[in-house]
Amino acid sequence: MKPQGTGPGDQAATGHPMLGVLGGGQLGRMFVHAAQVHGYRVTVLEPDPASPAGAAADVHLQAPYVDPAAWDTLARTCDGVTTEFENVPAQALRELADRLPVAPGADAVEVCQDRAREKRCFAEAGIPCAPHAVIRTADDAARPEHAALLPGILKTASMGYDGKGQRVVEQIGALPAAWAALGGVPCVLEQRLPLRLEISVVVARSRDGQTVHLPVQQNLHRAGILAVTQVPAPDVDPVLAQRAVDQAGRLADALGYVGVLCVEFFVLDDGSLVANEMAPRPHNSAHWSVDGSDVSQFDLQVRTLAGLPLVVPRQHSAAVMLNLLGDLWAAGTPDWAAVLALPGVHLHLYGKSEPRPGRKMGHLTVTAPDLAAARAVALQVAGRLGLPPF
Ligand code: ATP
Ligand code: MG
Repeated sequence: MKPQGTGPGDQAATGHPMLGVLGGGQLGRMFVHAAQVHGYRVTVLEPDPASPAGAAADVHLQAPYVDPAAWDTLARTCDGVTTEFENVPAQALRELADRLPVAPGADAVEVCQDRAREKRCFAEAGIPCAPHAVIRTADDAARPEHAALLPGILKTASMGYDGKGQRVVEQIGALPAAWAALGGVPCVLEQRLPLRLEISVVVARSRDGQTVHLPVQQNLHRAGILAVTQVPAPDVDPVLAQRAVDQAGRLADALGYVGVLCVEFFVLDDGSLVANEMAPRPHNSAHWSVDGSDVSQFDLQVRTLAGLPLVVPRQHSAAVMLNLLGDLWAAGTPDWAAVLALPGVHLHLYGKSEPRPGRKMGHLTVTAPDLAAARAVALQVAGRLGLPPF
């Protein structure tokens, strides 16, 4: 840290150690909690006056991400800055990095902001990804050879999340209209692959290149949004799990990454592993680690940013995580008492006031000594909340 060796609780010349985070969402909120547990104060830079992370922060800098005055405040008051969303302007990370430790770095974040660059990065690291083509112009969208990728999924190259900015394309004649419907912005057309299941791996890499990881997570999506994560992954054999962990570590090395990186993978019907995308930050699929691991993904983010030692996280409980989307609020606030009456239920609500359909309002992790027991309770929880079984 600044100076080297400044750790939690240390009151150096600058006073209480302070960490900064760009972005005010739930990932930032959970970073704030983890940093505060480690003895840090936290400044959140977020323009929205009512944000999940801003509400938990010691200091909420209510300003645009690209406000030089806000950067100045961060540089003067913080010992390091991280981000909680991948679409943070890279310029902010770059400017700040001239003045204080920033993790992850602007270059790595920029790769993750653009699906085309991201796929090039996978290829350069020798990691298979979906057959695809980049569509930048109307001419690109009209090329008959793209028929080989169909049926496919057209995805905006940037700013997509939770399945937003995507169109299924069944026939080549429909490609130009699908591209126009996405605003005629740069896109990636991906072959739609036969998925057996989806998994993700979170790795954390320190400034000196040490890498640790959380166990492989098995993810179920509904309508393009993560719905359920199970750890240990029930349908993943150890060889496949190791391959995914190796590939995630290789990507972190290739990027010279510092911080927490999540890589999402598809496991195809033939058992092969294909990288889908990566996120330069903690990830929804690793929220279980707050309750099921002795070191969470947010602890890892704090440690990598602050230059604290990395240790191998140990999963102490099997875990099933259920996302709580705004749809659950259709008939009013869900009956939390009914689910908290079950053993091993950890409820996390993000403090968002408007429960819109598809909006992530919170999550709930069920921990138990083994996955069968965690699943049994999670299925009861799902039943009581009116969520589909899995
Ligand atoms: P998020 O950022 O929330 O992870 P996203 O909007 O970036 O999501 P993707 O991860 O690209 O979207 O896709 C969302 C989901 O759609 C995937 O998890 C998967 O279930 C499905 N999907 C995406 N691409 C493909 C593909 N090529 N073949 C089959 N299914 C796909
Ligand atoms: Mg995804």
